[in-house]
Amino acid sequence: MQKIGILGGGQLGRMLLQAAANYVVETYILENDENCPSAHLCTHFVKGDIRDYDAVYNFGKNLDAITIEIESVNIDALEALEKEGVRVYPRTSALRTIKNKILQKEFYKEHSIPSPQYIVTQDLQDLRKHTDFLPAVHKIGEGGYDGKGVQIIASASDLEKGFDAPSVLEKEVLIAKEIAITVAVSDSKEVALYPPAEMVFDPQFNLLDFQISPARLVKDIEWKAEAIARKVALEFKSPGLFAVEMFLDTNNNVWVNETAPRVHNSGHHTIEANYCSQFDMLWRILLQLPLGNTEPIKASSIVNLLGAEGFSGTAKYEGLDEVLKMSNVFVHLYGKETTKPGRKMGHVTILSDDYPELTFRAKQVKQALKIVSE
Ligand code: ADP
Repeated sequence: MQKIGILGGGQLGRMLLQAAANYVVETYILENDENCPSAHLCTHFVKGDIRDYDAVYNFGKNLDAITIEIESVNIDALEALEKEGVRVYPRTSALRTIKNKILQKEFYKEHSIPSPQYIVTQDLQDLRKHTDFLPAVHKIGEGGYDGKGVQIIASASDLEKGFDAPSVLEKEVLIAKEIAITVAVSDSKEVALYPPAEMVFDPQFNLLDFQISPARLVKDIEWKAEAIARKVALEFKSPGLFAVEMFLDTNNNVWVNETAPRVHNSGHHTIEANYCSQFDMLWRILLQLPLGNTEPIKASSIVNLLGAEGFSGTAKYEGLDEVLKMSNVFVHLYGKETTKPGRKMGHVTILSDDYPELTFRAKQVKQALKIVSE
């Protein structure tokens, strides 16, 4: 039986382990928190820091293959394992490029992949020199996650909000739509693309409201986005799963925002909405099996379940019964014991081929289900 390790035991690891049940595989999780969402679903739980060289090396040395659920892992240890013959997904060369936003931007430029124009800033003092480049978005080179490493610098008065560390200052794009395409690449260089997913933002709070898939795009834009996503994934020269996040601007140009070399939030709907889910797909890659069918069974929308403002402590799911009674609605709770404002606690997938219904139901679910504390 193949021994496969996952660095990180959060909700992505959990959903990956859920999909592992269909395969003959021994699963290993490395994670510091014994109460993490993945802990009771894996075959072997190993307590340890995914950023620590020894922890990652010792975890991986007897495994057949290893993958990640987050980029902030010890790449040097993965590289040593790779040299000893452990299959690492994605390859450490791709992971190194993606982990650092400066290297990631340089990579797009080098490979003629359209991505917003940028300059590199070393610190705040350096950033202050670039008022002629505004409006722009400042993105920290390493360590940013879930919007925490991104600051909009609309004008000179925002400069102090920037990062005092090596960062990318990227021209602001007039975004018409944000989309993401997941690309699967196997060891034998088989490639499969999922249909684009579309993020719908709440105009009032500028927060992700819900997501719709397949995205509503005219065909030539869809083809353009697919060609770009395919090129991004192939240029990394690594097997794995790549979620390519892109902007469609108001002039119908497609720009790459960033790539995640792993299962991703933008692909959760594939569990119910596509023949082969992104998690099933990653197992096929890890186990060197043929890739699956990425076609949608039905269109879908997804609502992220975030901890409500003003509540911290043991999680309580208000309105769960109401949502569980809805047809073609699938609730995924990540099994996190405690909630806090904005924490990702689960998601809900809605299936329907009627797009207005997808929007209506997404709003209905958001209204009905609240995560508070006891
Ligand atoms: P994170 O990895 O933390 O999610 P992103 O780089 O994806 O950070 O940026 C977060 C959000 O900021 C994007 O989804 C988009 O709405 C906005 N954003 C990022 N870059 C730009 C840009 N160049 N122009 C306009 N908006 C941007």
